[in-house]
Amino acid sequence: KAFGVAFEGNNDPYVHNKKQRTQPPTSHQRRPRDADRLPVAKYRRQLLYLVETHATVVVLGETGSGKTTQIPQFLDEAGWTEGGRMVACTQPRRAAAVTVASRVAEEAGCELGEAVGYAVRFESVMQQGMTRIKFLTDGVLLREMMEDPLLARYSVVMVDEAHERSLATDMLLGLLKKVQRRRPDLRLIVASATLQAEELRAFFDPGRDSSVVKTVQPGPGAPVQRTPAIISIEGRTHPVEVHFLQQPCSNYVVASVETAVDIHKADLPGDILVFLTGQQEVEDAVRMLDREAERLSASSGYGSKLLPLPLYAGLTGTAQAVAFSPAPRGYRKCVVATNIAETSLTLEGVVYVVDSCFVKQRAYNPLLGLEALCVAPVSKASATQRAGRAGRVRPGKAFRLCTAQDFAKLPDTTVPEMQRAELQGMVLQLKALGIDNIMRFEWLAPPPAEAMVRALEALAALGVLDQDARLTQDVGLPLASLSLDPSLGKALLTAFRQSVPCSQEMLTIVAMLTAAPHGPWVAPPGVRKALDEAKSRFAVVEGDLVSLLNVWRAWQEHGCSAQWCAKQLLNQHSLRKAEEVRKQLARACARLGLPEPESCDGDMDHLRKGIVAGLFMNAAVFESTDHNPLAPESDPGTHVYRLIRPVGGADATGVRARSGGRDGMGRAAPGATTGALDAGRLRLRIHSGSVLARCRPEWVVFQTVQQSDSGWYEMQGVTAVQPDML
Ligand code: ADP
Ligand code: MG
Repeated sequence: KAFGVAFEGNNDPYVHNKKQRTQPPTSHQRRPRDADRLPVAKYRRQLLYLVETHATVVVLGETGSGKTTQIPQFLDEAGWTEGGRMVACTQPRRAAAVTVASRVAEEAGCELGEAVGYAVRFESVMQQGMTRIKFLTDGVLLREMMEDPLLARYSVVMVDEAHERSLATDMLLGLLKKVQRRRPDLRLIVASATLQAEELRAFFDPGRDSSVVKTVQPGPGAPVQRTPAIISIEGRTHPVEVHFLQQPCSNYVVASVETAVDIHKADLPGDILVFLTGQQEVEDAVRMLDREAERLSASSGYGSKLLPLPLYAGLTGTAQAVAFSPAPRGYRKCVVATNIAETSLTLEGVVYVVDSCFVKQRAYNPLLGLEALCVAPVSKASATQRAGRAGRVRPGKAFRLCTAQDFAKLPDTTVPEMQRAELQGMVLQLKALGIDNIMRFEWLAPPPAEAMVRALEALAALGVLDQDARLTQDVGLPLASLSLDPSLGKALLTAFRQSVPCSQEMLTIVAMLTAAPHGPWVAPPGVRKALDEAKSRFAVVEGDLVSLLNVWRAWQEHGCSAQWCAKQLLNQHSLRKAEEVRKQLARACARLGLPEPESCDGDMDHLRKGIVAGLFMNAAVFESTDHNPLAPESDPGTHVYRLIRPVGGADATGVRARSGGRDGMGRAAPGATTGALDAGRLRLRIHSGSVLARCRPEWVVFQTVQQSDSGWYEMQGVTAVQPDML
């Protein structure tokens, strides 16, 4: 069902570079029959024809139609990887890049890292000269552009999951458009699960721009059309019946568990897929479902047993594989997932979807200059995608945990991340790629001007940019080559350079924060207290970042033992990852010509000074303690902090306007009753998971904030500091 271009194929499969092949395509015969039944298989020739004849092809297709796993293989078989070039396929999520690469390696019958490999930040499983299909995050491809601006090692770049509109995807699309002008032989495939084809086509259409030659001759063969082609792959989906709540629910985690159990009790065949917002919720729900499953099997009477399984990005490969494999005989799978199962990963056999209608999102408020992770209602487009997951095998049912009236109030589409994220990292990368006038860059959706100004200001304050907004020699250029958040990167550079260096310590802290942004802890269900105790064993008065250093040292002293980790409720996997990141960072620093890493031997003040050098913009001071008149007298109240840098008076309303829509969805509107944003001043408190949660340090710097249900901004990664350090 292509539109835009008439297909004039012949009987031979269309082969790129018709000149003789040195070897037959290796994976061709081994591809299992299963894959030939995927909807995309029918479009193989047509797709290859379009890729051959068009610079850009937009591929639209339902989730599960085989875009991600099959198209790179088609290109490989058709000769696009001859002469040592690779096919790249980008993913917005690192977990998806890894999972999909192993799936494709399995289909192609090779070891992962040979013909099929992947590259995510700080981890690359591929071999130069051997790998032909490479899955990578969009962020990693952006990094590669710094060394290889024209992406010379790739013949085709497939930007997958373009509908997600991640920050890096949007950046990549703008940059690829530039690259294409210089490299007419580069082919671009933009794959999307929803209908945004016209917007994408218009973006890549050079017709509007008269300075561009519309047709170029890449050597022998047909001329290449610069106008993008669109191909839509008809999915094989079944109708899905959508149900809404009659009354709003007050707790969607509990409601989703109850709904799943009700579905199970109805005793009709088919797996259940539940959408929640984050790892913690997923684990809570799985725990509750486990209890229910036990109760139900004790009372028997039901045909199959319920098998609750978690699925989220931080899960290890084996645990993820369990969610993908069919349920054992006599069991019904109930996969409880985050947004990762919306379009990135496909689960077979799902007939029922339970949708919380919420998602965890980055939300940047340029007035406050703060980005927080917030739980926000999904868009209608997202909810439609989620419901669609129920119709893969046969007609299905979707249960949305909100009323039809509230659903009608949801936004139609999700705002692109570009327009709701903090932009420092992006500006730094564009500058490093030589894009000087960022405001005039060709955006698919331009970022808000105020967010851009804030990012430029922040980068100037960090010393990354000079007065002319160019990268500085001493901070900007080195930071651009470290794959780090600019604040952490600055802290690391400072640690190497200050009078008493603490680079050994800072390498550890930065590696730990990067490898395990949510902390190195594993919280087996129901051990909240044990976890607090475990944390307190490593806690120091300097705060969370310095406590991480203690964790690391103790782990090393105990021979990196897995048993020890389990006893301390530490995630061995995270620590191993941190070790790898640390090694890579140390190598990158050496390449930058920084001195050998040194230790400050317990000089905490210098370590804190290094931390402050990166996080000074997130400095807060204790203001007052709020006492709840209804709480018992022993209740210590809430310690309220205030940002030190000035925050405008319009902020409170700004925040409320931006997070509108939450009321009526069973959650309080932020700031509605708590007064957390009164008098135009942003008020903060220390997150309960921080080692300083029960202390009351006067001055602090924090790494991130998270917005609570009641609208508080909660500081995480807190370090207690002295005012003179600021
Ligand atoms: P799309 O990218 O169009 O959403 P995919 O190429 O990801 O589709 O998936 C095609 C099919 O391959 C899906 O129907 C799914 O059943 C199967 N599949 C993909 N990944 C896995 C995996 N890791 N394990 C098992 N099956 C998978
Ligand atoms: Mg896909």
